[in-house]
Amino acid sequence: MPPIRALPALALACVTAVAGARDPGVKLPDIGSSAAAIASPQELQDYGAAMLHELRAYELVLEDPLLEDYIRALGYRLVASSDRPDLPYTFFIMRSEDINAFAAPGGYVAVNAGLMTAMDSEDELAGVLAHEISHVQQQHILRGIEDQQKMSLPIMLGMLGVMIAAAGRNDDAAPAVLISGTSLMQQRAINFTRSEEAEADRVGIQILARAGFDPNAMAGAFQALQRVMRVNGIDIPEFLLTHPLDTRRIAEARERAAQLGCPTTPAVVARPAPAAGGGGLDLNLRAGTQVASAVPVSPKPGSCAPRQGDGGYYELMRERVRVLSAPSAPSIRGYYADNLRDNPGFDTPATRYGHALALIRTHQAADAVKELQPLVAAQPNSVPLRLALAKAEDQAGQHAAALAGYERLNRDFPGNRAVVLGYADALLAQGGDAGARRALELLRPQVDRHGDDPDLQATFGRASQLAGDSVRAAEAYAEAAWLNGRAEDALAQLKALAKRDDLSYYQRSRIEARITRLTAVVLDQRKRGDPAPDAP
Ligand SMILES: [Zn+2]
Repeated sequence: MPPIRALPALALACVTAVAGARDPGVKLPDIGSSAAAIASPQELQDYGAAMLHELRAYELVLEDPLLEDYIRALGYRLVASSDRPDLPYTFFIMRSEDINAFAAPGGYVAVNAGLMTAMDSEDELAGVLAHEISHVQQQHILRGIEDQQKMSLPIMLGMLGVMIAAAGRNDDAAPAVLISGTSLMQQRAINFTRSEEAEADRVGIQILARAGFDPNAMAGAFQALQRVMRVNGIDIPEFLLTHPLDTRRIAEARERAAQLGCPTTPAVVARPAPAAGGGGLDLNLRAGTQVASAVPVSPKPGSCAPRQGDGGYYELMRERVRVLSAPSAPSIRGYYADNLRDNPGFDTPATRYGHALALIRTHQAADAVKELQPLVAAQPNSVPLRLALAKAEDQAGQHAAALAGYERLNRDFPGNRAVVLGYADALLAQGGDAGARRALELLRPQVDRHGDDPDLQATFGRASQLAGDSVRAAEAYAEAAWLNGRAEDALAQLKALAKRDDLSYYQRSRIEARITRLTAVVLDQRKRGDPAPDAP
């Protein structure tokens, strides 16, 4: 196993906080409370989005369409079973190896890569998400802000983003505001109370059970965290030493789960499914070709039986997170190569997939192709496996095979963002007008649906440029800059664009509307004194 890094002293590791109080029942927050008066829902959304953009500016967000779609599908499934399915949520993955998850204003819920790889099952990951969703639903974040009367909401949220960003950095270049001593943890602004933690556990277990997950998984997640803490021994931060994750919290989670029982209708998290008539069988029907789990599938003591027939999708995603978040490509390749050589129990389709992804990262594409071909043959409807094969073929110089693979994927899974982005990248790398036009055709509906995806905007910009539409290209690049936390850059780019005298009426009004919107964002940022970097 790769060494597990120390838990960060700054991290808001609320999932590892101890639960103390025993509040009876679940009380929903009073919508008309003063907490709601602190900021409008739109303001909370704007601040949450600004935080996400800022985290991207520090390259702390793991941006990968397959993983994004996965964590969103899992999160939305839980939200649908919460008491407030109407609240807006945005789920994303942080690149950090630290074991952490957090919820921020506006329903922004982050899970660290390190937490995802520390979980033994999808149900445990769902347990952590359900806990964070409960903090949002019960308005714990707003209550924290309410307590913090000295600091205005915008300033505090600006700092929150920076604090979280700094927690994931290993260098000493943390912005000066961090060292000034006004630590959010010291101020206890977003630090949840023990009774809030207990409430989030309790509400979270109910959400888990209602969504068809194993309610025991909350305790399972705590135990996995406890195991990691034990491994880290000396590195436990003071916060955890004073509020250890004690056996009582785990026991309480087990008791509640026992009252709820095992799910009668197991959770089915949305996976990419082939288009009707588009080719192939339903993933779930191919029982003989399922990808085995990387961990023993027998249930943990006190857990419900594992779900059947989900094709090992979670295990694939867990290895994907492990590879994409690893700081060093050669060492993650070594991790798979060494374990596959020395440890027979390690060898599963999911770890083979991880090995192939690591080989792609180290540009050993021909070996990756060899690793992936039998996996795809065994599971011909797996989007992650087929995408990896097409990417490896492209990197190995087998461009025709790669493009044919992408074309088949696009036919079988129309509208899949990961497929479109992979295909468009391959087309644009080939150069030429025809490829650029085909890429544009594929990307346009995606940009309409996922306008807040900076990678998609950047790829759309590149395609527009190659296809000769320099105005649309400049607009898309500006959009990508904004979404990546560089609002000042984006505004400057749009203002330069507006000076062109060959714009159509529609182009000009669209650009001017965007300038008005971004001007408001930039002014607000200046007011907050955001120390976000101006350049990538
Ligand atoms: Zn918590």
